[in-house]
This record gives sequence, structure tokens and C-alpha cells, in this order.
Amino acid sequence: MNDNDIQQTDADYGTWMHDLLVRLYPICRSLAGPGNRETLTILGEHLPLSITEVPSGTDVFGWTVPDEWTPRGAEITGPNGSQYARFADHNLHLVNGSRAIDEEMDRDDLLPHIYSLPDQPDLIPYVTSYYHPHWGFCLPDTVKAALPPGRYKVRIDTEHKPGALVYGEATLPGAVKDEVLISTYICHPSMANDNLSGVVTAAALYRRLADIKDRHYTYRFVFAPETIGTMCWLMNNESTVVPRIHAGLVLSCLGEDDRFSYKQSRRGDTEIDRIGRLWMHKGGEVLEFFPTGSDERQYGSPGFNLPIGLISRPYPGEWPYYHTSGDTPERVTGPVLGSSLDLVFNMVMSLEWNAWTYQRTDPRGEPMLSKHDLYHRQHAREHYTADSLWQERTAMLWLLNLADGDHDLIDIAEKSGATIAEIASLAERLLEVGLLSRNRR
Ligand code: ZN
Repeated sequence: MNDNDIQQTDADYGTWMHDLLVRLYPICRSLAGPGNRETLTILGEHLPLSITEVPSGTDVFGWTVPDEWTPRGAEITGPNGSQYARFADHNLHLVNGSRAIDEEMDRDDLLPHIYSLPDQPDLIPYVTSYYHPHWGFCLPDTVKAALPPGRYKVRIDTEHKPGALVYGEATLPGAVKDEVLISTYICHPSMANDNLSGVVTAAALYRRLADIKDRHYTYRFVFAPETIGTMCWLMNNESTVVPRIHAGLVLSCLGEDDRFSYKQSRRGDTEIDRIGRLWMHKGGEVLEFFPTGSDERQYGSPGFNLPIGLISRPYPGEWPYYHTSGDTPERVTGPVLGSSLDLVFNMVMSLEWNAWTYQRTDPRGEPMLSKHDLYHRQHAREHYTADSLWQERTAMLWLLNLADGDHDLIDIAEKSGATIAEIASLAERLLEVGLLSRNRR
């Protein structure tokens, strides 16, 4: 295995991801409705998605699957004929899940139904109202503040009707039935980082993993509306897939050019948590589990307690345009998406590498590395000061020392300070020259 191949930012992937993100951006998604179906149809052009429908009204762990919501148009017409908050101009102008209305009213009766952000006065906020009948608009605070007094015509053309919540999933089979779950959410309208960046990263990861021969684990990709959609998936798979989950990641907000953030699973000590901590070593942050955030809350509910963490950059909400119209495709670039894909791919590949345990073929003493052309022939001072040589030799000695069948590659990466990709690559070299043997764990 050549670790250059797996660590490099692949510009083609980044461009592909950004193109897909731009295509998905205009769609008005919600918990259930035509926007979600359209999103899954487009994703289905790139990976073989199977679609599951969960009928409206279905009880899911005490929650109720909502009706499908179809937004067709909305705007406010002011006393002077000017129009505001036109849904045709931006999906975020309409409160997601808003009921229909067609009425005239005074400005003061309208204002409580208009949401804005006084501390980000030029941006439209993202507001939802899923489970209680409500209507509302979202406006930049500057526009809201300048609405003249008088009579307003308020029109919202939306429909709630029984249908189904839909989620999509795709699998890549491996040698074992144990699964790695990649989960991301498809309920946000017209925002790029939250969470189309996660959606396109999952789609690209599928394609990259599809090219890996001899996968050990089976990979499952779930694209579901956040919270209720994920609970639907958990309910439908509780006795089948869920017991087979070996590890997983929720992908969220991976499009900002900022530090990575890994939030540990509720258990905190699982293999994916150890891998997350390894990869955050240089500049990333590790967060303990806490029960707010994205779908790790459902996977980490006590009845499931699954080994699934959250990867983002940085943590959802810890960036300036979160849940606003400022979260545009222009802010999320192909190279950043490509580097997010690289990180997630390397984390997943760490599970693959760590599925092997290595043992010395002859564990007595240190092997004579120069005999295998693995060690410099002259023992000179510069060999200790040439960083890369020194680090590689040290990593190799750690690997040879800990290849005892008890330690895994994560242990060896932790001890040596090398990345697990480097350790896996060194292990392959030592395997080739016969100094190590290996078994599936
Ligand atoms: Zn969000």
C-alpha cells in the first residue's frame, strides 16, 4: 500500500463534490416531502441507493412520522406594493414546515411571525416548525426593521398531506458482515456546509471505498432526515443491522476551512474513538460525547449505545454562518471538501488496516534490518538528525517491538507518533521481506 495514494488531496474528487453540492443546494428539503425525494434521486445517480418509505403517522419510539410538506410559494406584500421574503428568491425566507395562510393584517400582527438575527442583521436565519401548526417568515434584520407600518398581504402556499418520510442507503459488501455505518442528514434546505458538505463527502467516500479491493468490513451509507429519519432507520434495523455495527461516523459540517473536530461516541473507548483521537493529533480537537448535536444523539441513546462518533470541521455551530443564508456554496470550496474526504477516508481505512494483527516471524532480538535494505549501512550522526529517516526507523522499531499479537496498529501509531497510515505501510514492507506475519483479528 502506498500511503501517498491515500493521503493526498484528490483535486478531481473535490471538484466532483462541489459540483454535486451546487446541484443539491437549491432544493427545499424538510423532514418529508418532494425535496427529500429529489435529493435522493440525484444521489441515486452516483451511488446505488435503496429507498425506504416510512408512512406518515408511524410511531417511532414515541415520535410520530410527520406528513409530507410541499412548499409552492410564499411572500409578503407591503402597503406600498413591495414584496418581501419571497420563497422564490430563497428557501430560507419561509419557516420550514410552515402551514398555509392567505390573509391581510397589520404590520404589528405580522411582526411576531417574522424571524431575524439582530447580531447578523444582513442574513436570513434558518427556522423550522415541524411538529406544531405554525406559519412564519425569515428576513434579514435590516429588512424587518425597515418594514413600514400599514396593511400587509401575507400568502403562504404550502400543503401538508399524509405520505412518507424517505431515507436512502447504500452498502458495499466486505469479507465480514460486521458493518461500518456512515450516516448523514438530508433535511436542511439551501445551506452548503450544514449539511450538503456531509452529504457529498458521504457520496464521494462511497465511490472511493468502492475502489478498494478486499474490503474487510461491510460499509453502509445512510442518508436520512436528522433525528426522526435516523430513528426510523434505527427502528427498521434494530434486530438486523444494528447488532452488526462495528463502528460508524456521522458526517456533518465538513466544508469550512478550519480545524477538524471529532466528537467521541457515548462509550468513548471504542475503536473508532481511538482512531478519531489519533487523527486529531495534529491540530484537530477531540470532544467528549454530549447529548446535543446531530444524529450521534440517536445512535448514542442508551438503548443503542453504538460506537459511532461525529466528524466535522469545526463542530456544528462553531462557525460564523451556521443556520443562515450566509452558508453558501461559494464558502465551501472543492479543495476543502477534498481534504475532508481524505480525512474521513483515512479514518475509515484505519479500521481496515487495524483489522489485521501482526506478529514477528522470529521475535527474538531485533532483526537485522540492513540485511533487508531497511536500515542505513553507515552509522553516522546525520542519520539521527535527518528527521524523516529517524522517524521512520523509530516507527519501524516500535512496530517490530509491538508486533506481538496483543497490540494493534492503533497502539503502535500512538506509541511511535507515526500515523496509522505510515504504520500500515511499514507493516506491509516488513510483511514482504518476511519479518512479520499477519492474521485477521
Ligand atoms: Zn443544522
